Amino acid sequence: MGGSGSGRRLGAGNKATTDTVNRIDIRFMRKQGFLVPGVTGSLNWLRGSRPCGSISFHSYEDELVLQYRINGIGEPYSVKQMVALTRTACHFGGDRLWFSCPSCHKRVGLLYGLHVEFKCRHCYKLSYTSQQQGYMDRVINQKHALGQRIFEDYSNGRGYIKRKGLHWATFEKLHARYQALEQVWCKSALNYINS
Ligand SMILES: [Zn+2]
Repeated sequence: MGGSGSGRRLGAGNKATTDTVNRIDIRFMRKQGFLVPGVTGSLNWLRGSRPCGSISFHSYEDELVLQYRINGIGEPYSVKQMVALTRTACHFGGDRLWFSCPSCHKRVGLLYGLHVEFKCRHCYKLSYTSQQQGYMDRVINQKHALGQRIFEDYSNGRGYIKRKGLHWATFEKLHARYQALEQVWCKSALNYINS
């Protein structure tokens, strides 16, 4: 999250995903008091325990100015980027702050630093992590394997009849596990869509 970095490792040959790229989270920034006009600070990211990028920022009333050095080929150089802040009113009072993506001007809560600029997920066409996807696949596979083991009529992810020869006590125990897997899957599917 935000300045602390996700801490996830970048696997060899992986495409850039939302979790393998340095990002700035507006909720984190606000919580830390970093968005109070006049505040200056820095954000540092880590991959595991290895530092992998840092920027400094200065907050204005409706703008966040980011400053960082790019170490590419040749001499390192400094980049300055302005990010406009917008506000939407909340139903129960107060307001919610957003970044206006410097590239497409969409209202977003997260900005990603992939090349030399911070932009939104849509601009960088970032996908969700393979870890996230892999985890869900494993849950689905486990659920299917268990379903086939305990139901006589298991098909299309559903089963209703206890498999013949399976003791009721065993069935009930395994069925509870099956339901737990189903819940995990529903939840993560929901997170996946909402995030
Ligand atoms: Zn954008």
